Amino acid sequence: MIIVLKPRTTKQEITRVENMVKSRGLDTHIIEGSEMTIIGCIGDTTRIDMKLFEVDPAVTKVMHVQEPYKLASRAFHPEDSMVDVSGVKVGCGHLALIAGPCSVESVEQVMEIAQAAKASGANLLRGGAFKPRTSPYAFQGLGLEGLEILCEVKQETGLPIVTELMSAEYLDVFNEKVDLIQIGARNMQNFDLLKQLGQIERPVLLKRGLNATYEEWFMSAEYIMAAGNENVILCERGIRTFETYTRNTLDLQSIPVVRKLTHLPIVVDPSHAGGKWWLVEPMSKSAVAAGADGLMVEVHNNPECALCDGAQSLKPKKYDELIRQISGIAKVIGKKVDL
Ligand code: PEP
Ligand code: MN
Repeated sequence: MIIVLKPRTTKQEITRVENMVKSRGLDTHIIEGSEMTIIGCIGDTTRIDMKLFEVDPAVTKVMHVQEPYKLASRAFHPEDSMVDVSGVKVGCGHLALIAGPCSVESVEQVMEIAQAAKASGANLLRGGAFKPRTSPYAFQGLGLEGLEILCEVKQETGLPIVTELMSAEYLDVFNEKVDLIQIGARNMQNFDLLKQLGQIERPVLLKRGLNATYEEWFMSAEYIMAAGNENVILCERGIRTFETYTRNTLDLQSIPVVRKLTHLPIVVDPSHAGGKWWLVEPMSKSAVAAGADGLMVEVHNNPECALCDGAQSLKPKKYDELIRQISGIAKVIGKKVDL
């Protein structure tokens, strides 16, 4: 952190600000120019409230040199991280191909979709048992019964499961049965939930909030990591912009940004980004070409009758075609897809 003082600040004022810094356990380095003085702060500034310095009468501006997140930061961990989801590697050249329905509706439904998706090359099965719906009158998911259905399908197909946790009430059962715990966009800043996820070792798929900045998203990852769980995968799922034609706007730039600023794997969910099935293929291809470590795609055997998000779901045949194309792109850019 660098503190730029106002021109012609007195020696007394400089000492006062310096002492403010030192009282927070940091060292200082003073640079005195002909017009102004700069105080360089040395040490861990992640716990400092820079706003307090910004409003000090002797201060012009305060700049952060270091990002406020540490464990998630590329600067502190230069190597890419790979997350192991019950034997499925994600990151470091390994693609996560997560597919399945928006919501678990029945054993037959999930089984049919999972078998088809697996045959196409999917290596992880998604399905919502607890659904975060905008309307309280909409289908809320089958809850624990839905989770049991996912377990049954996992047993049959061998596909590890990815499903959303909305309340810490179910943390223990998720920790026991779910391979990759999804934290949805709406809960990205549920800090109590994030802290509790830090207490376990299960990998977490942390979706970007509807209007979260990169820094807010990475700070949420930091919550989980700081509490002890470093198995975090980020998921870009589109952000809210002024555009209403698409459900959200897929921020493909987040892929290189995540790669530059963090060491965590990044998966893209084109289904919730676009909200329309025909946007899924071009956005999936773009995401993999841009360096994403995986895709999470909604697949439904009967989208017209889906209880949730049928409009953005691919039929199994379309998913199969998509994976053929993705594997071609993956090869070109040096990623591994086991088909
Ligand atoms: C989902 O993946 O089922 C979901 C609800 O996504 P999001 O949290 O990104 O809206
Ligand atoms: Mn959905």
